[in-house]
Amino acid sequence: MERILDNEVKFVAGVGEARAKLLERELGIRTVGDLLSHYPFRYIDRTKTYRIGEITEEVSLVQFRARVTGTAYAGAGRKRRFTVFVSDPTGSAELVWFQGIKWIEKRIETGREYLVFGRPSFFRGELSLVHPEVETMEQALSRKAESTMQGIYSTTEKLSGVLGTKGFHRIVCNAWELVRNRLGEPLPEALRQRYGLVTLHEALHNIHFPQSPEALRQAQYRLKFDELLGIQLNIQSRRSARMARNNGFLFPKVGGVFRTFYDEKLPFPLTEAQKRVIREIRRDTVTGYQMNRLLQGDVGSGKTLVALMSMLLAVDNGFQACMMAPTEILARQHYATVCRMLDGMEVRTAVLTGASNARERRAALEGIADGSIDLLIGTHALLEDRVRFANLGFVVIDEQHRFGVEQRARLWTKNEQPPHILVMTATPIPRTLAMTLYGDLDVSVIDELPPGRRPVRTVHYTDAARMRLFGFMKQEIRKGRQVYVVYPLIKESEAMDYKDLTDGYEAISRDFPLPEFVTTVCHGKMKPADKEESMRQFKSGEAHIMVATSVIEVGVDVPNATVMVIESAERFGLSQLHQLRGRVGRGGEQSYCILMSGEKLSRESRARLDAMCQTGDGFRLAELDLKLRGAGDINGTLQSGMALDLKIANPTLDTQLLTLTRDAAEELLARDRTLALPEHAGLRELKQRYAGGAERDFSMIS
Ligand code: ADP
Ligand code: MG
Repeated sequence: MERILDNEVKFVAGVGEARAKLLERELGIRTVGDLLSHYPFRYIDRTKTYRIGEITEEVSLVQFRARVTGTAYAGAGRKRRFTVFVSDPTGSAELVWFQGIKWIEKRIETGREYLVFGRPSFFRGELSLVHPEVETMEQALSRKAESTMQGIYSTTEKLSGVLGTKGFHRIVCNAWELVRNRLGEPLPEALRQRYGLVTLHEALHNIHFPQSPEALRQAQYRLKFDELLGIQLNIQSRRSARMARNNGFLFPKVGGVFRTFYDEKLPFPLTEAQKRVIREIRRDTVTGYQMNRLLQGDVGSGKTLVALMSMLLAVDNGFQACMMAPTEILARQHYATVCRMLDGMEVRTAVLTGASNARERRAALEGIADGSIDLLIGTHALLEDRVRFANLGFVVIDEQHRFGVEQRARLWTKNEQPPHILVMTATPIPRTLAMTLYGDLDVSVIDELPPGRRPVRTVHYTDAARMRLFGFMKQEIRKGRQVYVVYPLIKESEAMDYKDLTDGYEAISRDFPLPEFVTTVCHGKMKPADKEESMRQFKSGEAHIMVATSVIEVGVDVPNATVMVIESAERFGLSQLHQLRGRVGRGGEQSYCILMSGEKLSRESRARLDAMCQTGDGFRLAELDLKLRGAGDINGTLQSGMALDLKIANPTLDTQLLTLTRDAAEELLARDRTLALPEHAGLRELKQRYAGGAERDFSMIS
C-alpha cells in the first residue's frame, strides 16, 4: 500500500500532538493506516425511527421523533440535573442530563419537534434516556444525505473523555479525506475478479461509512480476505521452504526395538485409529522432509502409546527421542509407563524435570549428551540450554495447549538439523483453524476409543445433595474403587481457592474416617516430593480419595478410579471439565462424573454443565464451547498465543474464507514463489505485514 498510510496520525485534522499520544497509548494507533484499520465494532441503523409506544427494554439503542412538552431542574451542585419531557402520539419519555446542562438547555425549545437518539431505560414503567443525542428535524434531514449506518468505535475510558463517538467519527472522516484519492490497490485485478472482492478503496469507505448493509458486508469480506491471505502467504511460503530444504531425518528401518515391542510387549491390540496414525508418521519419516504433525485425540484415546511407538522408530534408526509433558506429575507418570512397557528391552531411558535431584539430573544430562540414553522424558526442564542431545531425531510434545509458542520453538533449535515433531492434544480444533494457528502443520486424528470403554455417567448436583454424594462415594469405595475430588484453582484468588480445598479436605477427612477410608491431598503449593508421595499413595490404592486442584487435570492415569467429583464445577471451562472427566472411565468398571455447584448459576454456566451431562464426545464439546464462549473470546486467546494482529477476520468463524485464502495463497506462490513479479508488489507488502506473528510460529524451524 502507499506511503500515505504510514503518515503519523497527528497530521490528521482534529488529532494533533496530544490526542495522537493518547491514541497511541490507549489503542496502539500510530499511523493513519492504523486509524483506518480501527474498524467500527458495530453499527447503528439510523434508518429506523421508533414510536415511543414501541420501545422496549430489549432494544439497546433507539431513535424516535418527539415534541418537547416541558423542562425541569432538580437537585443542586453535583446532583443537579435537567429533565426534558417529550411525547409523541403513542407515549411520553424523559430525557435527562447531569452534565453540559447549560449547553443543552439553550438548544431545547418547548413545543418543538426533535429527533432523539440514545439508550432506553425504564424506571417504574416510565421511559427515560440519559444524555441522548438530540437534533432538530432540519439537522437530522441534512445528515441523512450521508451514511445511514453509523459506525461505533471501541475506545477506552481515558480516550472517551477526549474523543466521544462523534469525535472519533470525525477524525476517521478526516483521515479518510486525506488518503481516499491516494490509495493503492494491493491485490492483482485477476485475483479480485476471481474471488469477487471489492477494491480496497470501496472496502475502507464502506467499513467506516456504509452506504448500505450489502456494501458493508462486501467491505468486511474484502478486509477479512486481505488479513487471512496475508497470513496464508506466510504459512504457505514457509511450508514450501521446508519442503525445499528437504533436510528431514530418515527413519527407513523398522528394526528390532519396534518389532519386539509390537510383538512381545504391547499389552493389547492397537485400535484401527492408532494404527492409522502410526502409519502416517511412518510415511512422513521416510520422505526426507521434516515432519510437523499435530495429533488430536480425545481424552483416553491412547495418544501416549502412539508417541512411544513413534519414538521407538527413531531409536531403531539410531536417533534419540524426547517427550515433553506440561506438568511434573504427568512427566513422571509417562516415565513410569514407558519404563514399565519397555521393561526387559534394550532401550535406555531417563527423566528430567525441575524437581530432579542432582544425581537424576546428572545422569540424564550426561547420557543425553554422550548418546548413551535413547529416550528422555520430562517437563519444561528439557528446554534448558544445558540439555544437549547427541542426535535428537524425534520430539513429542504432549497436551500442547499448555505450552507457549515460544517454548515450543526452543526445542528444535537444539539440533543443526530439525527433528521430527509430534504435538499431541486432547482439545480438538478444526483442521483449517489448526493450520492458521500452528502454521505449517499436518493433522492426524484418533477418532476411536480403545474397546470396552463404558461412557462415564455424568450428573449435576447442587450443594444440597452433598450427603447423598458422600453416601455414594462410600458405596463405591467399599466396592474397591477410588475417588477424585477436584477444586478449581484460579490464579487471582489463590488464597481463597486453597482455603476451599483445605476446608474440603478437612470435611472429607471427617466424614470418611480412618482406618476404613484413607484420603490424600495434592496441589501446586506442596513440595514436589510430597506431591509425588501423594500420587503414589493414590496410584497404589493405599489412598481411596484424592483431593486435588486441577493439577491432575491433564493425563493422570489411575484405572481403578471410578468417581470424579468436581467442586464449583461452574468455574471450570468446558474443555477443562472434559479433561477432568477423562481421568475416570479408564478401567472396565462403570464410572461417574459428578459436577457440584451452587443453586444459582448463570445461563452460560448452566449450559456448560448441561452439555457435560449430555455428551461425552470431546469434539462435540469443543464445538459447543466455541458457541458458548463466543468466538471473540476464543479468538482473543488464540491470537495472543500466536501473536497475530487480526482486526476483522476471525479464524474460528471465517473458516470458509480461511480455506479460500489458503488455496489462493498456494496458487499465487506456485506461480511466483517469492512474489517478485511487479504486479505482486502489493501482495509482498501484505505478506510482510503479517509476518511478525507468523515468525514465531510453530513451523519456524532452525
Ligand atoms: P490420552 O490419549 O488421553 O493421552 P492415554 O494414552 O493416557 O490417553 O491412554 C489411556 C489409557 O488407554 C491408558 O491406560 C492406556 O494404556 C490405554 N490404552 C491405550 N491404547 C489402548 C488400546 N489400543 N487398547 C486398550 N487400551 C489402550
Ligand atoms: Mg495423554
